[in-house]
Amino acid sequence: MTNTPKTLVRRTPWPEGSAVPVGTPLQPSVVYDAGSPDGLDAIYDGDAQGYTYAREGHPNADVLAGKIDGMEGAEGGIILSSGMAAVTAVVLGLLGQGDHIVAGDQLYGRSLRLLTQDLPRWGIEATLTDAGDLGAVEAALRPATKMILIELVSNPTLRVADLHGLARLAQDRGILFVVDNTFTTPRAFQPFDHGADVVIHSVTKLLAGHSDVTLGYAVARDANHRKAIYDLATTMGLTGSPFDCWLAERGLYSFDLRYDRAEENAKALAAFLGDHPKVERVIYPGRSDHPDADRAKALLGARTGNMVSFEIAPSRAAANAFAKGCANIVFAPTLGDIGTTLSHPPSSSHRALSPEARAAMGISEGFFRVSVGVEPIDLLISEIDVALNALA
Ligand SMILES: *Cc1c(COP(=O)(O)O)cnc(C)c1O
Repeated sequence: MTNTPKTLVRRTPWPEGSAVPVGTPLQPSVVYDAGSPDGLDAIYDGDAQGYTYAREGHPNADVLAGKIDGMEGAEGGIILSSGMAAVTAVVLGLLGQGDHIVAGDQLYGRSLRLLTQDLPRWGIEATLTDAGDLGAVEAALRPATKMILIELVSNPTLRVADLHGLARLAQDRGILFVVDNTFTTPRAFQPFDHGADVVIHSVTKLLAGHSDVTLGYAVARDANHRKAIYDLATTMGLTGSPFDCWLAERGLYSFDLRYDRAEENAKALAAFLGDHPKVERVIYPGRSDHPDADRAKALLGARTGNMVSFEIAPSRAAANAFAKGCANIVFAPTLGDIGTTLSHPPSSSHRALSPEARAAMGISEGFFRVSVGVEPIDLLISEIDVALNALA
């Protein structure tokens, strides 16, 4: 039982009993009492298990990282404060002035911005290419190229990268191969089994799954690379907070169930949209009319994910009417929530591009991306059907 402290200023001992709590404890402490200088030395030297200062590590980050490590077949993963913090820690931790990156030209918008606007100021250059075109990637390589960075399935056009070709190319040239596995998740694809050197996640999305946490994860196959990423993240303060880690870990308990159900729903929704007269085009990696259908099959098998894109009549008026017509579906530029969310890339992730540049990517004003959730599929289809049928 608790001892009453002699003053309110003294820390209150935690009541411990013989029964173990079932829920994961949340430990927000910033600092840890190692008892003595020798005790602190033991922790810093790795001779004793423990923590020192939360920016350098805490139990909730370790519990979460260990779980994602298990999903990815990895060890020593690091939790970062966001998916972008993970991308940043990997790039800045592993590269330096004069290095060059070749990256997919359809990466997450902020990743593209980091590569093209920010990194050049620190002397790191990037060339963007089509990650599905091995020849183009090879042509973009320079003697200074130290990293190839891709997402297996691109956003929002859901193109599939030539991952095996890229992995071989990177290995032949001694270049680090980095895969942002946010979209596919380890339930569908484990990049380390296919030649990746580093795997990145926005935990914010499907892994945490409830739109109430912003976190990232990064892990490298090589222990020296892991240390470099960890040191950069700790120095720059890119690590994640205990509460966010606690929430994300809670989300993971249902991840497999959520993913499987959302993917099953996505397949049914893609089939429904494909037959609907108001829909001009459906993009889903599991469909035989997908431009990379063979590659999707080879890399993902039946695990073709929860993201479906489609186009209606290419006008803003139709897009507004459709989004408003989906009255119960959240219209929001994110993905991976437990419920279905609808996004319109021309007015969100791709708004900075000219209409011509968007057209070149196949993104018209009528382009929508659906992050399919776990609700009953009949309900979801009927809600979308009503909105489609109301279009002029
Ligand atoms: C969202 C996202 C990110 C960035 O993650 P945040 O947690 O929002 O910082 C990076 N990569 C991909 C593929 C994403 O979808």
